[in-house]
Formats: sequence, structure tokens, C-alpha cells
Amino acid sequence: MILESYLLGEWRRGGGEGVPIRDPATGEVLARASTEGLPLKEAVAYGREVGGKALLALGFQERGRRLRALAQFLSERKEELYRLYLTTGGTRRDAWYDVDGGIGVLFTYASLARNLPEGNVLPEEEALLLSKDGAFQGRHVLVPKGGVTLQINAFNFPVWGLLEKFAPAFLAGVPTLAKPATPTAHVAQALVRLMLDSGLLPEGSLQLLVGGVGDLFEALDHRDSVFFTGSRATAERLARHPAFTERGALFNAEADSINPAVLGLRAGEEELKRLAQEIAQELTIKVGQRCTAIRRVFAPKERLGALLEATRAHLEALRLGDPREEGVDLGPLASLEQKEEVLRAVEGLLAAGAQVYWRHGGREDGAFFPPLLLLAEDPAPEALHTLEAFGPVATFMPYGTPEEAAELARRGGGSLVATVATPDPEEARFYLLALGPHVGRLHFLNHRNAHASTGHGSPLPRLLHGGPGRAGGGEELGGVLSLKRHLRRLALQADPHLLQALTGEYAKGAERPAQVHPFRKPYEELEIGETLTTHRRTVTEADIALFSALSWDHFYAHTDEIAARESLFGKRVAHGYFVLSAAAGLFVDPAPGPVLANYGLEGLRFLEPVAAGDTLQAHLTVKAKRPRDEKTGVVEWAVEVKNGEGKTVATYTLLTLVARKVP
Ligand code: NDP
Repeated sequence: MILESYLLGEWRRGGGEGVPIRDPATGEVLARASTEGLPLKEAVAYGREVGGKALLALGFQERGRRLRALAQFLSERKEELYRLYLTTGGTRRDAWYDVDGGIGVLFTYASLARNLPEGNVLPEEEALLLSKDGAFQGRHVLVPKGGVTLQINAFNFPVWGLLEKFAPAFLAGVPTLAKPATPTAHVAQALVRLMLDSGLLPEGSLQLLVGGVGDLFEALDHRDSVFFTGSRATAERLARHPAFTERGALFNAEADSINPAVLGLRAGEEELKRLAQEIAQELTIKVGQRCTAIRRVFAPKERLGALLEATRAHLEALRLGDPREEGVDLGPLASLEQKEEVLRAVEGLLAAGAQVYWRHGGREDGAFFPPLLLLAEDPAPEALHTLEAFGPVATFMPYGTPEEAAELARRGGGSLVATVATPDPEEARFYLLALGPHVGRLHFLNHRNAHASTGHGSPLPRLLHGGPGRAGGGEELGGVLSLKRHLRRLALQADPHLLQALTGEYAKGAERPAQVHPFRKPYEELEIGETLTTHRRTVTEADIALFSALSWDHFYAHTDEIAARESLFGKRVAHGYFVLSAAAGLFVDPAPGPVLANYGLEGLRFLEPVAAGDTLQAHLTVKAKRPRDEKTGVVEWAVEVKNGEGKTVATYTLLTLVARKVP
């Protein structure tokens, strides 16, 4: 039975024999994958035209809300995915990493959306004044790339892999073409069916290919991207396609990497024990079939034996078997082919001088592969650092000095992640600079964080996932980082009125006097750029003395005439916090109204001293707005406090919570 793909708004079945998808525990053929004869190039155009337009119509905020609703929808139906997962060789615990991990990414990106604007334009740092009078300004903004993103996934995480790539693309407003790896495509297909059934995704925003990509790359250009996870060999082959080398599509790769773990010279017993547990866990989760798993372990010569023993102790009691049976900790590898690959890699490691230190005594039939600890007394041979056994295999090697350990760790040619077990800041600093250029994530493990660490192998949605060199050079997750991979940065140059209209944020020079006090207006009625200019207030000696008494802040610059004369200001000045308070007193409209709370302030600068006799006046401008929930929104106000000479004495952004109109 050929599994259907979802293209151009319909479920469609590819032709021909198809590639079999097997249950690795039983060898049974579950389904077949084929995209033969399907309109793949057309799916690119359809994604751009139909999906792209529909996504733009929603804006960042609404897309974020839909991601949250989607995460909830999938949470309520995840048992369906858990059940199907058992046919991939994965245990229930493996499924938890994949399914719940993936749903967690959706929730994270939904939360990130709260800080994004309503539309589709994401302004970056503040505008630059490009002319003296401010009539010509420049600002960097990000806009959706206008193309599609083809997401090619590996077999090991059919759910997380799809969702961690989909979430940032969807939030950015870019339609997805998901291409799961064939061996677990049936799980990815079940996920996509659920996602489409949710009714939350506009048509064209998610399409699915179960099978090969055919000639699809021919349709890609500079608007599009390919996010790939899989083997280095495939990544290298794909990266040479004219879609990337000639037409400028983005190619982002996460490839296999030979991740190291180092037991530091300054590690104590606690660090050794915890590192052993970490290594054992890396070999157990997904039977070591994780791109981030620990493959090479470096320990000081005299402690290598203890680390091996402690690791063995964790692995010994584990049970291999069909994940459908009770009490099974480790399932089979994903396929017989994967087992062949692992066996080949192990042969290579043995040929390079590694010896079998310990082998688990569990099942070896079919695709089963029991955990294996290798010991290489001589860490020099190249193959020990370049051969990846994509299964429950780790090679332990001794080192003398930290320089040697770092040199060995670097020989992996670029890794997704490295763990260094040390409590010592000096040693950690050494590894930060020695390994920093060679890894995407550096995990320090010690007795202070062992109880709280999320582990070596787990990429987190808000932290970067991706590594240099052999690891593919890509960047995924990292919160807003991966959102930006789907947006294009451009430099806007215009007058402040246009800049304000385009970015949805206040541009200096485009203010308009407020007709009504802005504190009387509900969220919806506040217009970007409307400005309240307040009455004035002259600061007196009494103000400064009273503020000192009230706040208990008797700093010499406010209270000691002699010391103040010798100070930076040459005279006694008012407290900065007095200036802030006085400004609030000038612009606040006191009666109950839609402004609910002061939410904080950002970017505060005191630019000129204020002394008794100076006259203050405040300007309060609506700078930006973001809805928070159905009842409230956050309003950012640009506040500028000026003195009698018209000089700005303080500027900041005030945040308030403002009520929305009752719908
Ligand atoms: P592959 O690189 O063969 O496949 C990865 C993905 O690329 C799959 O979806 C595959 O589809 C697709 N693909 C393969 N060839 C092409 C092509 N010519 N054009 C477009 N897409 C293509 O890796 P595997 O999944 O087979 O795993 C092999 C090895 O990859 C593992 O042994 C391990 O070393 C490494 N790996 C790395 C991972 C990582 O996260 N970095 C994760 C998993 C594996 P299809 O399945 O249909 O061929």
C-alpha cells in the first residue's frame, strides 16, 4: 500500500512499486513510499501562491495563536502517535522525546510570537537618522522570504524533526513542504493528517511528500530554502545542486557529527559519576540513533577505567526487546540497513585499534544491536574521530593534558555538541576558547548543575541547534534565530512618515499631537505616533530635599553642596529617579481608565543633569503596540523629558498594560 502524500490541497498516491517501510522489530512491511508521477514542482508554486498568501493574511500574532492551538490539539491526540511509534522500534520513552519534544517546540514558538508585531514586518534596531533634519532615515527590517521551505528529515525523529522545522517557518509566514525520511514516514504522515485535521493551518501552508523529491529542486530559487537533517554524504551531494549554487536558495544542513565528551582534569567523583550516567543515557535514548549522541569519550589516563566501569554499570541492567513488550528499555535499530551501517562503522573502529571493553548480552537478531563500549588506548588513528556508528556505541580514549583533550575533540571536524564535565572555571574557560570554534553547543556538566541539566543530547527550542564543519554548518531552533532564517533582512530608507507606516513603530519626526489624552483611549484607538506634550514644572530645592527624605537616597550629589561642587556635575543635582517620577506626574492622567498598569521601562538614559531651577516638560508618544490577550495589550511609549533650554535630559520606553475594547 503506497502511503499518500498531501499536495496541491489533496491527498495523492504515488505510482510504481514504492519503497517498503518495515517494522524493524518484526520485519513486517507496513506500507510503501512513492511520489512517482506526483506534481512536485507544482507544489512549490502552489505553496508560494496559495499557502504564502494565506499565511501573510494572518500576521505573526495570529500565526502564533494558531501554533498554540495546534500544540493543544496535538497534545490531546498524542496517544495515536505513541501507538504508531511502537512500529518504528522506538520505546514509549523514545516516543516521549519525539512527540512531546515536538509539541514543546510548538508551544515555545507560540510564546515567542507574543513579542512580535501584528503584521508581517519585523523591525530590528532603532532607526538611523541619515540627514540632519531627520527627514531621511534608515532602518533594518525583516520580511517573510516569499518562497517555500522544503524540510527534509532524518528517520530518527519523525515528529520532533517535522515540528521543529515547521514551527519557525509557519510563524515567519513561510509555507512548508515536509519530506520525512522513508523508514518512519508513516508516523510523519499520521502527524500531518492530525495537523491538517485541526483546521488551524491555512490551505497550502503545509504539504507533505512521502517518497523521493524527484525534480522538485528545479523549481527552487532565492526565495526558497531547504532545511536538511541526515547524513553528511547526502548533505554534501544536495548542497551542490544549482538551486543553491546558481539560483541562491538557502541550504541549511544538520548532518551526523562525532560528538565528544571530556572528563575534565579537575572533575571530582560526582562529575565522573554523572558523566557516566550521561553517556549511558546517550546510548539508550533511541538506541543511540541521535545526531547529538556522545560518540567519543576522553578521560585522564588514570580515570578512564573508572569511567568505563561506571558507564557499564548503568547499561548492564537494561533490557532489549520489542518495544511492545513490558519492561523493554531498548528497541531495535531503525532498520536492517542501519544495523549493517553500524556494524561497518564498528569494524572500522576496531581496525583503527579500538578494543571491545564491554558488550551488553542482549538480543542480536534482526535489527537489534546491544550497547557496546570500545576502548582505544592510542587515540591517534584518524578513523576513531571520523567514523560514526549511528547506534549504541561509544569509544573511550585517554588524554594527558587539556591541550591534548581539546586537540582530540577537534578532530571530529565540527560537532553539534560537546560535554565537558568540570566544576572549575579556569578549565571551563580553556575549553570554551579551545572548542568554541568547533561546536554548536557546549554543555558543562558538574555537581552544581547535574540535577538540573537537560542533558548532552537534547536540543532545546530556545537554544541554537547546529554545528560547524562536518555537523553541516546549519542553524536551527535558537528561538527567534531560526525564525529569522525564514525572513529576509533589508535596509529601508525613507522619510519618518513612511517608515512609521511600514514598520508599525514610531519614527522620530512623524509624531502628531494627541487630540485626547492617550491614557483615556483603549488599546485599539491608540495610534502610533500620537504625542502628548505636557505642561511644565520647575524643580525646586524642596523637591530634591523631599525626594531624598522620601526615598532614603541621600547620595552626596543631591545632598552635599561641597562634595557636589567637586563632582562631575559641579553642583547639586536632582535624583534621576526624581526626574522619572516628575515625568510620570506630568504625563499621567490620574482618573480610572483603560491604562491598567505600569509594566516596566526599557532603555533608560539620563543625558543631562537636572538642578533646582530647571524646568521640565515631558513628551509621551505611542511607540509600538502588541496584543497580549483578548482583554489587554502592551503599549510601548517613547518618553522624552526636556529642560527649559529644550535639551533632552532623559529618554526611555515606558511599557503599560492597556485594556482592549470589549468585543
Ligand atoms: P540520509 O542522508 O540518507 O537521509 C536523510 C533524508 O534525506 C531522508 O529524508 C532521505 O529520504 C533524504 N534524501 C536522501 N537522498 C536524497 C536526495 N538525493 N534528495 C533529497 N532527499 C534525499 O540519511 P538516513 O536517514 O538514511 O540516515 C543515514 C545516516 O545519517 C545515519 O546512519 C546517520 O549517520 C545520519 N543521520 C544523521 C542525523 C542527524 O540528525 N544529523 C539523523 C539521522 C541520521 P529517504 O529516506 O526517502 O531516502
